[in-house]
Amino acid sequence: MNSTGRKVAVVAIGGNSLIKDSAHQTVEDQYAAANETTYHIAQMVRMGWEIALTHGNGPQVGFILRRSELARHELHEVPLDVCGADTQGAIGYALQQTLRNHLLDMRIAKPVVTVVTQVEVDPNDPAWQNPSKPIGSFMTEELARERREKDGWNVIEDAGRGWRRVVASPFPKRVVELDVVQLLLDAGAVVITVGGGGIPVVADEKGHLRGVAAVIDKDYASGLLASSLNADLLLISTAVEKVALHFGTPNQRWLDHMTLSEAKRYLAEGIHFKKGSMAPKIEAIIDYLERGGRYAIITNPENIERALNGETGTHITPD
Ligand code: ADP
Ligand code: MG
Repeated sequence: MNSTGRKVAVVAIGGNSLIKDSAHQTVEDQYAAANETTYHIAQMVRMGWEIALTHGNGPQVGFILRRSELARHELHEVPLDVCGADTQGAIGYALQQTLRNHLLDMRIAKPVVTVVTQVEVDPNDPAWQNPSKPIGSFMTEELARERREKDGWNVIEDAGRGWRRVVASPFPKRVVELDVVQLLLDAGAVVITVGGGGIPVVADEKGHLRGVAAVIDKDYASGLLASSLNADLLLISTAVEKVALHFGTPNQRWLDHMTLSEAKRYLAEGIHFKKGSMAPKIEAIIDYLERGGRYAIITNPENIERALNGETGTHITPD
């Protein structure tokens, strides 16, 4: 329990809560997928959890950038930080409305609110030396060179498939709107925050913030939020019911439970959790537990209630 005696959970929902497959990507499809996931979030509310809900935004940022690129002969382009803000608003809207409707059906009077959330990153983060996250569409070499010269983009040749812009993925240091998220939770609201890992910003000597062209890992940002809120639970919802050792090999073994030190050992073995998908979740959970976090679960949206009842999911606890 946190200081107010209520159970607080940070619930991070993955890409599958908005896009189930490449044939279902429209706004209507994403709304329908969000509606399925928020049913389970509403069930958590019914179980007594106070919830800060976070989500990814990778494909949605890609869609905005593509539109922006296609329209560039006629309209100004949308900078990456603003794409992040746009997706927080649009995805927050879908989550906020569907969750509210489920709560209404359950006769639970609880406000749901989305906070456009900035996350501070370090201008000296080593990630800036090695921008590696591909962003936006493939380009010709000619356009890539032009963008590098005129717009200062970092561009790479992607395995013979063409050229792409790459940006850095620095570590999240601080959730700028943390105080207001806390106030809203204390007031009894379900708060949607840190969407897409948050809008990356850097502070100058005066503390003034400025958006930067980068992306923040949503799992790391969710872990930071969970420790900053002193949350009782970090629940990461993704496309698998449980975490496996030797994932995708004949020796694959699904895990019901691991301790913090087991999680660290498996992560260090380097063969179990794929980079860019499961590894960042495990890293975020390790970080949360090392900073005093009490409990973490990884499962998929449809199994959230069963996982909270101890019937499934992978549970990670302090030693
Ligand atoms: P999200 O959008 O939820 O972050 P990701 O695709 O980034 O989704 O990560 C979840 C995926 O990680 C799973 O769907 C699974 O394919 C993959 N994965 C990698 N390693 C493991 C593992 N050890 N156990 C379970 N799933 C794993
Ligand atoms: Mg992911």
